Amino acid sequence: MSDKGLLNSLTLARGTLDRAAERRDDAEWFDSVWEWPTTRVVIVHQGRTLVRGGTDLAGAPVELAFLTPVLAPVDGVRVLLAVEDEVAHVALLVDHAVQPWDAPEGSRWAGLREVGAGLGDRDAGLLVPAVALANWHGGHPRCPRCGEASVPSQAGWSRTCPADSSMHFPRSDPAVIVLVSDDDDRALLGRRVDWPPELFSTLAGFVEAGESAEMTVLREISEEAGVDIDPSSLRYLGSQPWPFPASLMLGYRAAVAAGSRVAEPDGVEIVEVRWFTRDEMRAGCEDGSLRIPSQISIARRLIEHWYGSALPDSWSNS
Ligand SMILES: [Zn+2]
Repeated sequence: MSDKGLLNSLTLARGTLDRAAERRDDAEWFDSVWEWPTTRVVIVHQGRTLVRGGTDLAGAPVELAFLTPVLAPVDGVRVLLAVEDEVAHVALLVDHAVQPWDAPEGSRWAGLREVGAGLGDRDAGLLVPAVALANWHGGHPRCPRCGEASVPSQAGWSRTCPADSSMHFPRSDPAVIVLVSDDDDRALLGRRVDWPPELFSTLAGFVEAGESAEMTVLREISEEAGVDIDPSSLRYLGSQPWPFPASLMLGYRAAVAAGSRVAEPDGVEIVEVRWFTRDEMRAGCEDGSLRIPSQISIARRLIEHWYGSALPDSWSNS
């Protein structure tokens, strides 16, 4: 792994299709797309979508199982995800309150966390925004100004209030995630209060109002682990959406400041922090006493960036 440049091919930051944003304001055209037999529908219901394959290592890789509009059993919020070679890809976001139904033959329901790492670039680039928008539409049914029920607009990429005509857009909440290392090149990992005792990961936290991402790194590491960061050591390594429900993870590496306080967990969010050498990490993961996050998370990639190589799937929690 090169130590230069940004992390590439982050699991949830992929995509190959044209989002065709210039078509979003053409409501008549978007309505007509639903009549096309070629339109590919990505259904999202209660955080899951339809996939096929991927159930055993020897079989076909997991991929989205597209419906056609006439085969969609229920309606919902329609979102224009992409247009490629005159084939429209539309997310159909079904209301959470609708009862689950059986997957069509040959397909199954699966969540993004479960299948995200196995999907190809095209399908990951379709499902991630579909899940993000499903969370946003589901959680923001009303106008934040006047409380009136708002309606989807711009091919599902905004909502408009019929009472005051205000428009509202999906939000992503920025959060930093940081691999901190010390003078001996050990990595600082922490365990959250709600995690199993063997799971450790890089520290993370939301960017607060009026704060830069770099300010958040210094504050969060100080709050969660009691460690002082050398501000000049900060290095941005890339980002990926984390639509559970609406985060954008900004990945950094950082070095502990000379004369820093000793690492100590805040005892509230983080109940344990430890410095790991590579040998300690390998030994722990191999004997099962330690687990690190799976491929879907940027935390995994930050750890691999520090470690110096890709790490086995068996080292992760799932
Ligand atoms: Zn309103």
